[in-house]
Amino acid sequence: MKTIKGIPVSEGIAIGRDIVYRKEKIKVKKKKINPDQVKAEIERFNQAISKELKEIQDIIDNYLHNEKEKELISSYILILKDPLLEEKVIKMINESNYTAQYALKLYLQEITESFAKMTNKYLSERFSEYEDVIARVIDHLNGNDNHSEDEVFNNNKEGDYIYVLDDISPSQVAKHYQGIAKGFCLAKGSKTSHTAIISRALGLPVVVGLENLFNEIQTGDELLLNGHTGEVVINYDKATLKKYRSILEEESRQNAELEKTINIPARTADGKKIPLYCNIEIEQEVDTVIRKKADGIGLFRTEYLFIDRDDLPQEEEQFQVYRNIAEKMKDKPVIIRTYDLGGDKIAGTTKHKQENNPFLGCRGIRLSLKKPQIFKTQIKALLRANIHGNIMVMFPMISSPDEVSESIKIIEICKEELKQNKTEHNPNIKIGAMIEIPAAVFCIAELAKMCDFFSIGTNDLVQYTLAADRINKDVERYYNPYHPAILKMINITVANAHRFNRPVSICGEIASDPDFIPLLLGSDIDSLSLNPASVLAVKKKILDTRYDEAKETVRKNMKNNAFKKQD
Ligand code: PEP
Ligand code: MG
Repeated sequence: MKTIKGIPVSEGIAIGRDIVYRKEKIKVKKKKINPDQVKAEIERFNQAISKELKEIQDIIDNYLHNEKEKELISSYILILKDPLLEEKVIKMINESNYTAQYALKLYLQEITESFAKMTNKYLSERFSEYEDVIARVIDHLNGNDNHSEDEVFNNNKEGDYIYVLDDISPSQVAKHYQGIAKGFCLAKGSKTSHTAIISRALGLPVVVGLENLFNEIQTGDELLLNGHTGEVVINYDKATLKKYRSILEEESRQNAELEKTINIPARTADGKKIPLYCNIEIEQEVDTVIRKKADGIGLFRTEYLFIDRDDLPQEEEQFQVYRNIAEKMKDKPVIIRTYDLGGDKIAGTTKHKQENNPFLGCRGIRLSLKKPQIFKTQIKALLRANIHGNIMVMFPMISSPDEVSESIKIIEICKEELKQNKTEHNPNIKIGAMIEIPAAVFCIAELAKMCDFFSIGTNDLVQYTLAADRINKDVERYYNPYHPAILKMINITVANAHRFNRPVSICGEIASDPDFIPLLLGSDIDSLSLNPASVLAVKKKILDTRYDEAKETVRKNMKNNAFKKQD
């Protein structure tokens, strides 16, 4: 038995036999055709592209059930329909008389070089999609319509398999998740890759970053995959299997226990009510928010409407999404954060310049103020959707009051333009700011004059306070939400906001961590906004915690300059 550890990116536990599959690098020999075959070769290339387009459309139509999943796979269609691909390949066939396969290989080489120069993690992760789709077209040209990866799945139709792969494309995850695939161990990948996003949406456990996995795992090994901790146990013994089975049983027992609290409002043991809101990235998550009976949406990360497409979401499209969410949530609050693009979330359509320090660059509200037209489109959609529910707007990456006042001016202009055009909207909208840059913590009094509410984004507050990149594995030990400076920042924010009667929520990941809850309650926060999957566990912790005791713990921790988990 051996245990290796990677990065958990999609939660859950899988038990099964593994299939190890190493993707071959695309092997195509340099080959030329006779000049009189050029026309036929171009025709062959076009047919292969059409075949692949049809296959991708088939995955979209038959295997995927929600818009977000479909959207993720649609990037393949964009690659296949890219006029540059057609132009370059046809030119190579015409001018150099290369076979379509070889021309495609050269095209991929060119793409590889430009991706290699990219420092942006989000964009560089898109390379695997290019590689995957081009390999599939080459398969068609070689007369191999059953792609080699599909064969791995097709040849193994029975049993519970955990796939051990270099990487897997989002299309493959989507196609096989309902079948025998119980989980994936991947050498490559990260939390922000599409593969991770789609696996989370589908509930498949995935561990990535297992750099040495092909030396450690052989086909047929028995595996235990822990998508919570990142552990992969190879050829487990009976005792470990028993342990994992009991973790699974315990998980389902705990879930059943937690379900019992679903109708109880979150209140501390001594009676302080703490509304629980949810963080969402895509519209479909609203169904889980409603099922968990959360009190509203505390953070809708709208940037996901902008990513992975070659156009900008127009006002009407955004309006529909915001309206749907607001209507489903009825009169419950829906806090829509204006797009927080930049950092590791880049939309090609905003023509973002490459930056040396993207997290310190043109991110969040800075980008919105730099491109007011795009910002105005979003604000108008929000004001229109506000007729259908209880929408509030929140600005990300606020570092000074000026950004809020400039943003408010833009909101006022939007209201005026909607009024002039006689477009139905509700101008009464509450305005909030995210407190995620240390400077904002110390400007809270000035911000309170302009804002109705605040939400502390500890994911960023930790990285900016401790100078530790939130996505850099090598500085993980410095990225410590338990650092005393973070407790102080939270307490300064809450105390000052309360002087102006402004409520403060926490929407960073710490709000989803039951261990953190007593420290947040003791810091006097007014509500929490968390991952929908954690609502019941966090509620249970609140029900079991006394507010007066939590306050005392925080007081002591502040005095001792410590920020410890409550025992
Ligand atoms: C945060 O920074 O804590 C936050 C909630 O925003 P995001 O994770 O989207 O940056
Ligand atoms: Mg943030």
